[in-house]
Amino acid sequence: MERLVQNHHFFIDDDWHRIWNADVPYKVRYFVWRALRDVLPTRLSLHSRGVQISPLCPLCERNLENSWHTFVGCPTTTPVWIETGIWTDINSLLGEVNSFTELGFRLLRNWPKIIGDQFIMTLWSLWHRRNDIIWNDGPRDPNSVTRRAKNVHMNWIRIRGLCTTDALPTNPPCSTKWHPPRQGFLKCNVDAATFESNNSAGFGTIVRDPKGDFMVAKATPINFLPPVRECEARALLDAIIWVSSLNLSHVIFETDAKVVTDAIYDPEKDISEFGDIIGNIRSLLTSHSNFSVHNIGRQANEVAHMVARHSRLFSCPNIFSSLPSFLSSCINDVCYSHNANEMSRTLMGDGHAETR
Ligand SMILES: [Zn+2]
Repeated sequence: MERLVQNHHFFIDDDWHRIWNADVPYKVRYFVWRALRDVLPTRLSLHSRGVQISPLCPLCERNLENSWHTFVGCPTTTPVWIETGIWTDINSLLGEVNSFTELGFRLLRNWPKIIGDQFIMTLWSLWHRRNDIIWNDGPRDPNSVTRRAKNVHMNWIRIRGLCTTDALPTNPPCSTKWHPPRQGFLKCNVDAATFESNNSAGFGTIVRDPKGDFMVAKATPINFLPPVRECEARALLDAIIWVSSLNLSHVIFETDAKVVTDAIYDPEKDISEFGDIIGNIRSLLTSHSNFSVHNIGRQANEVAHMVARHSRLFSCPNIFSSLPSFLSSCINDVCYSHNANEMSRTLMGDGHAETR
């Protein structure tokens, strides 16, 4: 689908302020401002101005290269958006918008700022990949796009001094009731669900602020069924990688898998697959010194488990940028302690990954 008409006069000043106020490097803000103004030197744009050049996309060489195609329409971009976890949101608007500009602003209005900033960084990195392929025969894989976006973003935040380096706590005692994090911290609950009937599993991650309010969640389906302790460890590793890609700092991760927290804080080296995952978690905790991992009771982690169960409704990782309806009735901690058993019974099918 090609969109040739761009009408940026339709958009209000607040939309443009969102670009200029993004927590991303200035060069990225300027780039995305140009992209949304539709003034990038795409092949079609150069061709229509009389430059002797093919108007076709240099990546797929099948369609005219305009902004829409570069960032959305090209078959090489979809895997990138799938990897970032925001493809579902983008895909849901494709039939409703008339231009890349309209799509960009609709998404930025709907998303919380952290997801919007990730979107902006990815746009910039997609263009970077496109130029790198043209001039340097650079890599085409989606990983290279998301990795560059994340690295540049994190370096920029580090330079601005937004990251601090508080000491990592030792293995703390287990809590049976969910509590919001203390001021200045975020809490990320993580759980795995196993679906033995179709030999698969899923991870659930939910981030909440010091008021206990929902910020963002992610449901990750996996199409195989690892051993249970490995499944819980993978869920935690996936959550830490994802949260760090959002450039959140001061995050307390909570899992109800005691076997995982015990292994993280155990100095013994484990050479199994599980040990490898734990080693990766340890490395990430060392490089993100304001992240920590705590063990909590299963009832206190029920909301993360509900997200994990919903992963089987999706074929790829799905990010919830607003509170999903299936969590809306139980997002306060009172529910966790009193209604957890009832909630468990109303959920679909299979169960927790048994680790205790
Ligand atoms: Zn293309």
